[in-house]
Amino acid sequence: MKTLKDLLEHQIKDIYSAETQLLDALPKMENAAHDNQLKKAFKTHLAETKNQIKRLSTICKELGISPEGEKCKAMEGLIKEAASFLKEDTTNAVKDAGIIAEAQRIEHYEISSYGTAVRYAKELHLDKIASLLNDTLDEEYEADETLTDIAEDRLNEKAKN
Ligand code: FE
Ligand code: FE
Ligand code: ZN
Ligand code: FE
Repeated sequence: MKTLKDLLEHQIKDIYSAETQLLDALPKMENAAHDNQLKKAFKTHLAETKNQIKRLSTICKELGISPEGEKCKAMEGLIKEAASFLKEDTTNAVKDAGIIAEAQRIEHYEISSYGTAVRYAKELHLDKIASLLNDTLDEEYEADETLTDIAEDRLNEKAKN
């Protein structure tokens, strides 16, 4: 890699791998959740994730690159950690609170990845790509906020006793 554009392309491939891995992980988290609002949040975010992958494909067409070729090892690790928490023996309320904690680590990783990619795209004056990446960044922020709301409103309280 020699240029910021090469680095952006590298980041896009990494994000594509991360999002693709989430297609498998989100339904598992939905299934493991007990609270209906939490289940719904995962379902909604799975649909958004499918659309985010489409956006990345559009971006790769614009850039003239294949989205394949990188494996996001960080997302692999975050998903492994979430999966091992799902196997823990806990009460239903503690399980839900813990699933939110795992899911928010994932959303924060995505926020960080897309935040960087948006900035690179803007600096390279790739306006359409920056705008597509920013649409996804907004969704990741919203997904994170929804999880915070669910935890604060009910689940953390329930998990206390
Ligand atoms: Fe995503
Ligand atoms: Fe990564
Ligand atoms: Zn993080
Ligand atoms: Fe996300």
